[in-house]
Amino acid sequence: MSRESHKETEAKSVYDFARIEAKWQQKWTESKLFSAPDNPQDPFYLLVMFAYPSGDIHMGHFRNYIIGDAVVHYQMMHGKDILHPFGWDAFGLPAEQAAIKRNLPPKDWTLGNIETSRNTLKKVGVSFDWEREVVTCSPDYYKWTQWLFVKLFENNLAYRKTSLVNFCVHCNTVLANEQVIGEGICWRCENPVIKKKLKQWYFRITNYAEKLLDGLDTLAGWSERVKTLQRNWIGKSVGCEIVFKLKDSDIEIPVFTTRPDTIFGVTMMAVAPDAELVEQLDIPADRREMVSAYIEKSLKKTEVERQAESDDKDGVFTGLYAVNPLNGEEAQLWIADYVLASYGTGVVMGVPAHDQRDFLFTRKYDLPVKVVIKPEGGSEPNPGDMTEAFVEKGEMCNCGRFDGLIGQAGIDAVIKYVEEQGIGGARVNYRLRDWLISRQRYWGAPIPIIHCDNCGEVAVPAEQLPVLLPDNVKDFIPKGRSPLADVADWVNVTCPKCGATAQRDADTMDTFMCSSWYMLRYSDPDNANEIFSHTKVHQWLPVSQYIGGIDHATGHLIYFRFMTQFLHDIGLIDFAEPATRLFNHGMVNDDEGRKMSKSLGNVVSPTELTKEHGVDVCRLAMHFTAPADKEVLWDGKTITGTARFLERFFRSVSRVTTGLSLADLPRLFQRNDLGKDEWAIYIKLNQTIKKVTEDIERMQFNTCIAATMEFFGAFAVLKANNPLFQRFCLTKLTQLLAPMAPHIAEEAWQMLGNKTTVFKSDWPQHDPEAVTFDTITVAVQVNGKVRGELEFERGLDEEKIKKLALAVENVKRHTDGKEIKKVIYVKEKLVSVVVR
Ligand SMILES: [Zn+2]
Ligand SMILES: [Zn+2]
Repeated sequence: MSRESHKETEAKSVYDFARIEAKWQQKWTESKLFSAPDNPQDPFYLLVMFAYPSGDIHMGHFRNYIIGDAVVHYQMMHGKDILHPFGWDAFGLPAEQAAIKRNLPPKDWTLGNIETSRNTLKKVGVSFDWEREVVTCSPDYYKWTQWLFVKLFENNLAYRKTSLVNFCVHCNTVLANEQVIGEGICWRCENPVIKKKLKQWYFRITNYAEKLLDGLDTLAGWSERVKTLQRNWIGKSVGCEIVFKLKDSDIEIPVFTTRPDTIFGVTMMAVAPDAELVEQLDIPADRREMVSAYIEKSLKKTEVERQAESDDKDGVFTGLYAVNPLNGEEAQLWIADYVLASYGTGVVMGVPAHDQRDFLFTRKYDLPVKVVIKPEGGSEPNPGDMTEAFVEKGEMCNCGRFDGLIGQAGIDAVIKYVEEQGIGGARVNYRLRDWLISRQRYWGAPIPIIHCDNCGEVAVPAEQLPVLLPDNVKDFIPKGRSPLADVADWVNVTCPKCGATAQRDADTMDTFMCSSWYMLRYSDPDNANEIFSHTKVHQWLPVSQYIGGIDHATGHLIYFRFMTQFLHDIGLIDFAEPATRLFNHGMVNDDEGRKMSKSLGNVVSPTELTKEHGVDVCRLAMHFTAPADKEVLWDGKTITGTARFLERFFRSVSRVTTGLSLADLPRLFQRNDLGKDEWAIYIKLNQTIKKVTEDIERMQFNTCIAATMEFFGAFAVLKANNPLFQRFCLTKLTQLLAPMAPHIAEEAWQMLGNKTTVFKSDWPQHDPEAVTFDTITVAVQVNGKVRGELEFERGLDEEKIKKLALAVENVKRHTDGKEIKKVIYVKEKLVSVVVR
């Protein structure tokens, strides 16, 4: 139905969504219905991940936000005080790239997109509290991002070092480990990532590895999937460090191993091509060229390529040897790119007899294999006959004093021995790396550090924050160093400590820094004196329910936990975890299964769709297409069905007799009040209430909608003439639909005679008796002939059943004026009446 025909028809029974949506959005704004109260009594903080403003919002955003909206409406109807804020993750690369392309300052491009997106969100009626909006590129926000950097710096958790870092040539930027995804590609442009040697700022997130792991155990409201992803990302392994020596040298080669019981089986050592040790090695002249060529080739590969599950690992012999501190044996020292510099010490000991990767490597290069573990009580395998490594734990052999020790006892004995000898000891190793935070780019929060020749790195004093991003930058094209470095009047300052001439740090911060603390700022968004007030932040946080994509599991969702734990440790907040419950919604893909993205040109705009069909129809259709945690293949096919459903629902409501007040509606009906068909509908209604409630609690909106549709289908064919009961059913149905279809629910609620908003009504409770109501139907015989049927509640008293059987109309006719000799009840089968 086109919009024009809606305008032409003013009939009350026509669902004029455009009028209804505009009307209620205006009412909500005027009444500040969705504004968070100042002093919440029963707070519920619902947070959806804020948006990157890269144009207008798309169906993926729409899905995330209507899920959050449904939870907000549902919780309001449970009497909660709601905080449901929104904001913009406004710094970052795309703004800069768009600015270069369009010759427009990144700020103008960003603010323009925010405006467009905000308008769309208002038109789809999401219940955000717009008075609390935060924009990370605004100075009153990034002042506190910088303040946090300073706090980390003061606590020795921000530092600068030179090392090989992930670099995307295409984006011309460094990347944090968390921003290298899948097959070693850039998370943003999906081109391969290489390694480059640069001096960069890091946050010492590794100091928090153990806390981040322990905290996961307290997060009962997070999915096991996300927790497992985080555990694996942090990658804790318990083992032993053992220091080998380079032959004829003082150079120490520490290795980390989880299997110190196999140390007697070391026949080679493998060093990562990018490990620091490599630079210290004095490679014999005849091998130098070969080794450099190998290193150069390796560094062009991504870490994922290097670790790929292929049997073909390669390496190059350095011509040098490492000496095993336990038995004095020499092991060839190789450089092999399957070893990662970032894991452990960047060197691994090669035990071919007991590690499959080492086994394949030594077979390829014909290196020795030495067996040091055998099956418990069994015989020692012959190295020449082995077709694969013996990787299980077992009994130590060929290990001198350790021979005969089994499994963990052997591991413990070796650890004790190396500790006694001062050549190592028990260690815990993590896969997690420190967070690379600096970017050589314009469009970010400037790092608040001043470099002074006398004082070194000096934090910008709090009263001088924010360090404003200068406007007079003409050239945003990154040249491997920050464009800010060329803004002389910005860079050159005096040292806050000694007053000498000094320079600002020209780098800006990773945008994941901006989003690591935004959930806190919403509690007190306008505070100019503090990052947040202690009172306000504790009124709302931790977040009651956080909603966002699973793709952030090992990025943002680790960073914001780290920042919360840090603020907890420095005494600013009393809680250590930012969000009690986390829900990860599925992505929205197009009908060919591709992720919606601008570059694919398959982005469906919610604006067009909602204009054509109405916001609530689109909301319902999106909820209905798939369970909220699963991917959606959005083809719009569910729209027809949900549109018809809402139109019919609206027509039904408009036909309800007015003149009844809300007080006329009974809380529960008695069976006697209702006819047989109505009673069946009553039971179905209560089952629907129960199901919708349970499904919303577990974020399953598709089945909620199926249940309400099914109920309405049964209700609509009911030829009942009890207006009170009809109104009762439609009132409950309106409330059940309100979280998913807020505009039409408000309108229906009003048409049903209510004066306040549906969101301040009490969420319907099911009638427990009706939900479990279970009846039995039995035949009633008179002198052996079936004369009627009797339906009664299961478990009804036998005498009552007999009485009811005699009251059945047709039975009465056949027993009238006769003497009843006997009434027999055959349990759940038959009532037999004998007359004479
Ligand atoms: Zn890139
Ligand atoms: Zn100084």
